[in-house]
Amino acid sequence: MIVGVAAPRRATRQIRVGTVPVGGGAPVSVQSMTTTKTADVDGTLAQIFALAGAGADIVRVTCNEPEAAIGLAEILPRSPVPIVADIHYQYRLALAALEAGVQCLRLNPGNIRKADQVKLVAEEAKARGVPIRIGVNAGSLDPDLYDKYGGPTAEALVASAQRELGYFAEVGFEDVKISVKASSVPLMIEAYRRLAEVTDHPLHLGVTEAGPPPAGLIKSTAGIATLLAEGIGDTIRYSLTADPVEEAKAGRQLLEAMGLRERKTVDLIACPSCGRAEVDVIRVAEEAQAALAGRQLPIQIAVMGCVVNGPGEARGADLGIAAGRGKGHLFVRGQVVRVVPEARMVEALVEEAERLVAEGFEARLAAAEAGAAEEAEATRQALMADQGDDANDVGERIELIRKKFSA
Ligand code: SF4
Repeated sequence: MIVGVAAPRRATRQIRVGTVPVGGGAPVSVQSMTTTKTADVDGTLAQIFALAGAGADIVRVTCNEPEAAIGLAEILPRSPVPIVADIHYQYRLALAALEAGVQCLRLNPGNIRKADQVKLVAEEAKARGVPIRIGVNAGSLDPDLYDKYGGPTAEALVASAQRELGYFAEVGFEDVKISVKASSVPLMIEAYRRLAEVTDHPLHLGVTEAGPPPAGLIKSTAGIATLLAEGIGDTIRYSLTADPVEEAKAGRQLLEAMGLRERKTVDLIACPSCGRAEVDVIRVAEEAQAALAGRQLPIQIAVMGCVVNGPGEARGADLGIAAGRGKGHLFVRGQVVRVVPEARMVEALVEEAERLVAEGFEARLAAAEAGAAEEAEATRQALMADQGDDANDVGERIELIRKKFSA
């Protein structure tokens, strides 16, 4: 079940990028872009498969030279996901990409500015039933709009998209999604908000040239998540200066975190650690993250620093482990089911996660080791006696405060 926190999704028309619907109530899709030369067919395909494996629904490749269009013709029949050809400057390469059988084009209105060329491409796309993304970019805004608006303002970005839409409308082409990207987060948010008010075409969200992680991840998330929470956005791309697999992973994780896509992989949570910690929580969490990476386990797993508070604080998690006195206390929905040596914490966690997904909660709770819960409770009590129970007398304090006010 998907539990989303975002506002109702903005109503848009729907387009289809190959097999992937975009807009019109379709799940928000994840995109990324290859960094290989498209003429390198095997290298590009290897990257496309890696991106698809990491969560990309659609992949963009550059079509910047005739050899790229030729490569595209070989790549398309073997690709696991629909492909978008990225076109700048040369409209003939857009026609070549269509000839290769590409599932979508991206045109930059700032780089192909002749109306007759744009219309020719739109006519050809229309004839083939291929959609186009109008990809406006603040860094390559049409010079006349730059002058008119005094720079790449939100109004200027939207005006650029609208002018391109006007050219398309002249030839009856409406199979369009739009992006108005900027490297400034406030600017891209404003531009998309304005665009959402004046068009019902689906929108492709992104913060362009966001840079390397972690800053690039933070900027992209700030821009994309803000808009998604407002119901704006139908397909997303993180533009990171990193292996594009990181873009696909980030896009997928953002959508899962916002409840906009079904969870496919582990949601690993961990306590921030504190003076009660009985283990190096950062190290154990990192080891668990590495061990769980890539596994198709759609559950929430908690790594908690102490058995005093861990199982209780993380009782909402499907599975978790909490440290105490050299042992790992494995719990399922807050109930301790096994106690393992601390050195085996991560191994036991992964093993239990696999069994939990394969066998279900009831079976794993029923298979709880005799005495595990009692052993955990004894360790908890012993630690509380050693460390004090200040963290656990909150209920008592609240009761005292209530009594004072009711007197
Ligand atoms: S689970 Fe234990 S170690 Fe982690 S933050 Fe809570 S009290 Fe501290």
